[in-house]
Amino acid sequence: MGLLVLGTPLDWPESEKFHDYVRENGIKQFLHMYDNFISKKQDILLWGDEIEYIVVSMNDNQKTARVSLRQEQILKALGDYEERFKHIDFSPIYAVLKNTRCSKRADAILSEAAANPSTFTERLVKENPSLASNNEAIPFRAQFVVPTFHPEYGRYMLESTPGAPYGSVLKDFLFVECNMLLRRKIIENQLLPHEHPLTITNFLRLGTNHFTDPETKADGQTSRSFFLPDDIINTHVRFPTLTANIRQRRQRKVAMNVPIFFDKNTPKPFRDPTVPWDRDLYPEDKNAKEGAALEDHIYMDSMGFGMGCCCLQLTFQAKDCDEARLLYDQLTPITPLMLGISAGTPAFRGYLAEQDCRWSVIAGAVDDRTKSEMESVPKSRYDSVDMYISNDPRNLPEYNDVPVVSNEGCYEQLIKGGIDEKLSKHMAHIFARDPLVIFSDNIQQDNSTSNGHFENLNSTNWQSMRFKPPPLNSSIGWRVEFRSMEIQFTEFENAAYSVFVVMLSRAILSFDLNFYMPISLVDENMVNAQARDAIHRKKFWFRCNPFSNAENPLERGQCRQLTLDQIFNGEQTENGFPGLVQIVRSYLYTCNPDAETLCSLDRYLRLVSKRASGKCLTEASWIRNFITTHPLYKQDSVVSPEINYDLIKRITSIINGERNESLFNDCRC
Ligand code: ADP
Ligand code: MG
Ligand code: MG
Ligand code: MG
Ligand code: MG
Ligand code: MG
Repeated sequence: MGLLVLGTPLDWPESEKFHDYVRENGIKQFLHMYDNFISKKQDILLWGDEIEYIVVSMNDNQKTARVSLRQEQILKALGDYEERFKHIDFSPIYAVLKNTRCSKRADAILSEAAANPSTFTERLVKENPSLASNNEAIPFRAQFVVPTFHPEYGRYMLESTPGAPYGSVLKDFLFVECNMLLRRKIIENQLLPHEHPLTITNFLRLGTNHFTDPETKADGQTSRSFFLPDDIINTHVRFPTLTANIRQRRQRKVAMNVPIFFDKNTPKPFRDPTVPWDRDLYPEDKNAKEGAALEDHIYMDSMGFGMGCCCLQLTFQAKDCDEARLLYDQLTPITPLMLGISAGTPAFRGYLAEQDCRWSVIAGAVDDRTKSEMESVPKSRYDSVDMYISNDPRNLPEYNDVPVVSNEGCYEQLIKGGIDEKLSKHMAHIFARDPLVIFSDNIQQDNSTSNGHFENLNSTNWQSMRFKPPPLNSSIGWRVEFRSMEIQFTEFENAAYSVFVVMLSRAILSFDLNFYMPISLVDENMVNAQARDAIHRKKFWFRCNPFSNAENPLERGQCRQLTLDQIFNGEQTENGFPGLVQIVRSYLYTCNPDAETLCSLDRYLRLVSKRASGKCLTEASWIRNFITTHPLYKQDSVVSPEINYDLIKRITSIINGERNESLFNDCRC
């Protein structure tokens, strides 16, 4: 969520006075950075994942599952752990883990390694001297260093990343799953015995009665939500300020309405009895009655419903700015496809939904547009990409076919500063928004040594892809972030989806693939990807001839509507699209993998392929089935506390190695 600065944030009316100042200086910082780094080239391709967790507190006597609000203590303990082991070379641990994955022995290694990596590596190396790292240089790759842990919006959430990026030679991919496993184990060690770090997209009963541990009340003045107590918000002042400022800028509470899934006994029309329609605590309480809460929908009124969801994000470093821009473009049409096969959110606020993903909810959760801006500004600042940014000749004008709001002053400033049209437009688009949080002690910045104002805007435009320029004073290069995926239950799945996207990005570059298609169609795909059971019920626009570089005016005609199965697994016709999995497999073969690597990576490709074909269920479908076939389910769309408890128990058992045919088939081991 960006860097956490200490200090005092300005309240909204006060901060408005500085908006143009922040924008102007943010652009100056960008220009300074651009001039310094435009010639920056990196020869190694680095990448890393971000995994988010919901810490659940189980009470087995009462059979309840709640979110645990101990984030601050847990992060403190994790920070101490990082500090304590930051000088340890982790490579022997990863080396043994990689060879023992999915076994009882791996469990033992994980437990011991997580508890004390220092004594454990010493013992490993004593027993097997060949494990000693012969890397004399300071280790900077994921397989050498302690993972890192970060705060997130919800006070029941955590985020972890590898301590350093992975490389992208095939062998590096074998460390990903172990790295993720070790991260979960380290977190588990800092929790109380009844707490579990679950990688689930949302807590299905978030915002119902009694969903937090400890108990809290939804009457907070920051979010003014009917359902979410302010106590679920991260205590760092940035987070409550973001929440309050979005509400104030918008001049009403955020409002997300997800269509309810109508089952046999769901009242129709559905007017939600759990909405306190007549509450009169804050002026915004009227919003619901005045049209913010729709009939037949699950109504949500607070940032936490979206920013309190977990996702799986990937950051790639390109070799230079141009390559980053090309990757940004080429991966943009892939974002809805990966959203579709990673779908994991079939219920919100205790009700089954007629949708399977978090995306529209999180977009609504930080939508700071006023009523009149709703007409002139087409999207929330959290939404899918609006324009392609590469100067590649294959980026034809007709692909950029949706309106792009931009700040004209910033655009002029960028053009005058020597930035080309496309990048200027992109940045002016990012800078069309207001800075959401300004710290009083951080307004004066030296534009040649700080990028705070730039990051203030770049990191609060939450689009499906993010273009990340190099940070100052570091060896990090031009990067792009892939942001659409929902988090999965297990490390196996999260590694599979991550490695798949990384290999696809390598294939795009090495085969010079062309996935350009009109942004309007990518947007349409983004909507369809979230539909209930999109795998079986929706088709997706797709450019089926990624090998052609023809600058042919009929390009749009080459987009066709396919199922996710056809896109990932290919069309069974002559000259049909071979499928993304086949493309990735071809790339894999060009790298001459050894048998071990091939076998390991093939598990990932098979999972992706089977999720897309429906041979394995998406997590959303699996959760939905679990709920609708639960003996206590009353066919009324309600996810009761009992059902929720059993579901969380079952997910915990899947994480801990339960074989699950419908989710994994035979791919997991
Ligand atoms: P965000 O800005 O989205 O919060 P994070 O800092 O949480 O990003 O995560 C960034 C990810 O990028 C991590 O997985 C990290 O390992 C990875 N990363 C770090 N340095 C590089 C680099 N030079 N190139 C690519 N990825 C990197
Ligand atoms: Mg995060
Ligand atoms: Mg992060
Ligand atoms: Mg960060
Ligand atoms: Mg309270
Ligand atoms: Mg991120």
